[in-house]
Amino acid sequence: MTFSIHGLAVSRGIAIGRAVLVASSRADVAHYFIDAANIGKEITRVRGSRNAVMEEIMRLQQELPKDAPHEITALLDVHLMLLQDEQLISGVKHWIADRHYNAEWALTTQYDAIARQFDDMEDPYLRERKADLEQVVERILRHMRGAASPVQPAGQAGARRKQSQQDLLLDDTMDVPLVLVAHDISPADMLQFKQSLFAGFATDVGGKTSHTAIVARSMEIPAVVGARGASQLIKQDDWVIIDGDAGVLVVDPSPIILAEYGFQQRQGELERERLNRLKHTPAVTMDGQRIELLANIEMPDDTQGAIKAGAVGVGLFRSEFLFMGRSGNLPDEQEQYLAYRKAIEGMQGLPVTIRTVDIGADKLMDRPIGKAQDRRLNPALGLRAIRWSLADPPMFLAQLRAILRAAVHGPVNLLVPMLVHASEIRQTLSLIDHARATLDNQSIANGPVRLGAMIEIPAAALTVRLFLKYFDFLSIGTNDLIQYTLAIDRADESVAHLYDPCHPAVLRLIADTIAECQRQDKGVTICGEMAGDVGMTRLLLGLGLRSFSMHPSQILAVKQKILRADTGKLALWAATVLASDDPAALLQNP
Ligand code: PEP
Ligand code: MG
Repeated sequence: MTFSIHGLAVSRGIAIGRAVLVASSRADVAHYFIDAANIGKEITRVRGSRNAVMEEIMRLQQELPKDAPHEITALLDVHLMLLQDEQLISGVKHWIADRHYNAEWALTTQYDAIARQFDDMEDPYLRERKADLEQVVERILRHMRGAASPVQPAGQAGARRKQSQQDLLLDDTMDVPLVLVAHDISPADMLQFKQSLFAGFATDVGGKTSHTAIVARSMEIPAVVGARGASQLIKQDDWVIIDGDAGVLVVDPSPIILAEYGFQQRQGELERERLNRLKHTPAVTMDGQRIELLANIEMPDDTQGAIKAGAVGVGLFRSEFLFMGRSGNLPDEQEQYLAYRKAIEGMQGLPVTIRTVDIGADKLMDRPIGKAQDRRLNPALGLRAIRWSLADPPMFLAQLRAILRAAVHGPVNLLVPMLVHASEIRQTLSLIDHARATLDNQSIANGPVRLGAMIEIPAAALTVRLFLKYFDFLSIGTNDLIQYTLAIDRADESVAHLYDPCHPAVLRLIADTIAECQRQDKGVTICGEMAGDVGMTRLLLGLGLRSFSMHPSQILAVKQKILRADTGKLALWAATVLASDDPAALLQNP
């Protein structure tokens, strides 16, 4: 029966596909598609590990003393029985052979499907067998980790292709598009999924500007977050429509609903084609103001998308993504240097703004479970971004040296997140000087950088003049500026309705920051999600903003707004919006 679940629209478009449920606790398990040629190998890999675990248990049984408690022998029997369970074995085979999941993914998917059945059981004894199943699956996974190396992910030829609605109705085999449904996905895990071809994402939790949502948006596929209960209500393999425009999930859609969404999907494609024609058009307003449209990226390879979209530089390279999902092993100076160099070369002479690492809050290096950083009560107010860097000078120096070295290969801006105190500014600048001095002493080539600070904390926005004494340019991080001004956790869907970019206080801080930079003839960019929101473009132009940094997929739509704008008229209108108690109402009816 068709039903819908409402959430927050975070990445535009419509996706239709079968649900792949990924439990958050399993997000660290590798998820990738394998080539058809590797199906047999992959099945053998799980089977081999399952057999090895069975042998281990049988050995344990033999070694048990005669007077061992009955509970232990019974437990080992249950584990053996579960290892031979037909539903587990045939299910795993199905996910590998029919869906081309890698072995670990197939095993955990089948575990989740059976675990749900256990949850629904009336008999408490049987219900508790779920824990045994989990232990058995953990043992197999552990064995696979230590055993023969896994097969490689599918190459281009074997990778799934995205499908049209037409294909979808005809074809119900391996080629069916998949949509990912999870309670939550960390930004690091989301990055891992970036390699695969999910047609859409949905999570139970998360806010519009949570980092998970930002990465989903960067994948340019429809996504809905904060869809409460989605991972419970949707079952493995259910048909799901993800409406990333309206923030709605439609589960088990009827043919009429499917046809309607298929139509919307095609309309979206047409709109994208129309926008594509603006790629080479300079971003100049009707009254001749040239506007700088920059790209936000997470990885060096993202520069390809930035160039394709016509970005005139990278306004924000979130370097922390190089630090995530590596079990706490930080990238060393050389690895970072190569990554930054790749991004710089990828931009072909256009400037690249590398932000120093912003770990903390919702961007943990690894899965949060058991991590000390996660136990803090207010991680967004804790050791995050520059605070984290200044707390570990050797780590920070390695990053600074890597950036300075990479600056030999093209124009680089070095951007520092979350600064608020003058003492932090001075400490940061002295570490940058120190990093350069060590390179010079070792005769290691390094290049010039322009220095920028992010304005993300209201206190920083209120002391812009102090910042301008030290920095060449500022970049307003509206995602955090809104979070800290309104005291609304940007990743918490339960307060998402209060997360308001148009709050008069937020607009005032932005307007004053832009105005002060203009007065002092210093560059100012907005690199938060507000920059890519077409609903805000006219207001930001009216407030005097001339440099916007956003995900490449948003650039053309923003450019379209710019081409139709007259900044003189917008400046007058923006003044009334700023003075209003209800700016959102004026924005809706300009
Ligand atoms: C911001 O806060 O607006 C920003 C761009 O930084 P991040 O989203 O990575 O915190
Ligand atoms: Mg920020």
